[in-house]
Amino acid sequence: MAPQREWFEKDYYKVLGVPQSATDTEIRRAYRKLAKENHPDANPGKEERFKEISAAYDVLSEPVKRKEYDEIRRLGPMAAGGGGAGFPGGAGFGGAGGAGGAGGSPFNVRTDNLGDIFGDILGRFGGGNAGGAGGRGRTTAPAGQRGDDVEAELHLAFLDALNGVTTSVNVTTEAPCSTCHGSGAAPGTTPVVCSRCGGRGVTSENQGLFSFSRACPQCAGRGMVVESPCPTCRGSGVETRPRQVKVRIPAGVDDGQRIRVKGRGGPGRGGGPAGDLWVTVRVAPHDMFGRKGRHLTLTVPVTFAEAALGAEVIVPTLDGTVVLRVPPGTRSGRTFRVKGRGVADEKGAGDLLVTVEVAVPAKLSSAEREAIEALAAASTDSPRSHLYTRTTGV
Ligand SMILES: [Zn+2]
Ligand SMILES: [Zn+2]
Repeated sequence: MAPQREWFEKDYYKVLGVPQSATDTEIRRAYRKLAKENHPDANPGKEERFKEISAAYDVLSEPVKRKEYDEIRRLGPMAAGGGGAGFPGGAGFGGAGGAGGAGGSPFNVRTDNLGDIFGDILGRFGGGNAGGAGGRGRTTAPAGQRGDDVEAELHLAFLDALNGVTTSVNVTTEAPCSTCHGSGAAPGTTPVVCSRCGGRGVTSENQGLFSFSRACPQCAGRGMVVESPCPTCRGSGVETRPRQVKVRIPAGVDDGQRIRVKGRGGPGRGGGPAGDLWVTVRVAPHDMFGRKGRHLTLTVPVTFAEAALGAEVIVPTLDGTVVLRVPPGTRSGRTFRVKGRGVADEKGAGDLLVTVEVAVPAKLSSAEREAIEALAAASTDSPRSHLYTRTTGV
């Protein structure tokens, strides 16, 4: 865009060879003809002329800017006293939004529109979306902007997490507009190659002492121009909607793990790549097995007799059962390792950690009571004797 200063000096109508009363169509027609004749790709040495034509069209093609321009030109002589100082054009675009009115500017100019125009410049230089995206029917995203990363949570059954599963995740993201399929053009129309940048999406321009290379203002860096914007997305080519993304969950994922699904996040803009989808896995607990990383855990109750005398105990695993040999004299709480019966992932399989726990019956039959009383009578050593020796020092 041309600096505001130029608005006093340059007659954009003259540049395009149209009267000040020209209609939008006349302006567009004149511009197209001149742009074709002076396009620097086909006409080396016409860069300046082409730039001038583009700058003129940039202002005159947008009703708000054109009105602004007409007004500033009408008030020009009066404004001359203020010179460049009152205008933010020479002052480094300090404050967008209302800055035009700062410094006691005598102009009878609606500053909100100026703010909009400068906001537009700032937005484009900054490379962000913040600039003039709203209400203009075109976005200001620079070329090749990567889409957003998107977070999602996935609840998995315990066994699905162990075995791996292919499922879908519901995410609400920006997605290619369903009406125009992302082109931004109204149904029945197609975007055309941008005449200002010839499809490159970038222009270089002098701003006083500086030369900027920036996203082409006419096509917002896309290289294409939408002449009739899609009514659904107002030309942006994207809309926010829920969608289902299929994800393959690898075997062995654990609770809280994040899985990256490349390229399934928000869509890129201006030909940029899509962002990624990050799925945080929530694994439901199992009613029998627990998990410690790649190991499964299981608590198996045994009787006192089994723990004392030793026993072969049948233990469930994820696939079938194994026989665990509990040696005589096993204390309650001892853990046995069953190799290779844990969680299998690409690195191999973990183990099943079986903890035996001596079960104490809440009720005894009379036969049991008699037997246990006999055992108590026969027990000579107290299991607590070491506590007393320790504390009494005997
Ligand atoms: Zn659309
Ligand atoms: Zn362009």
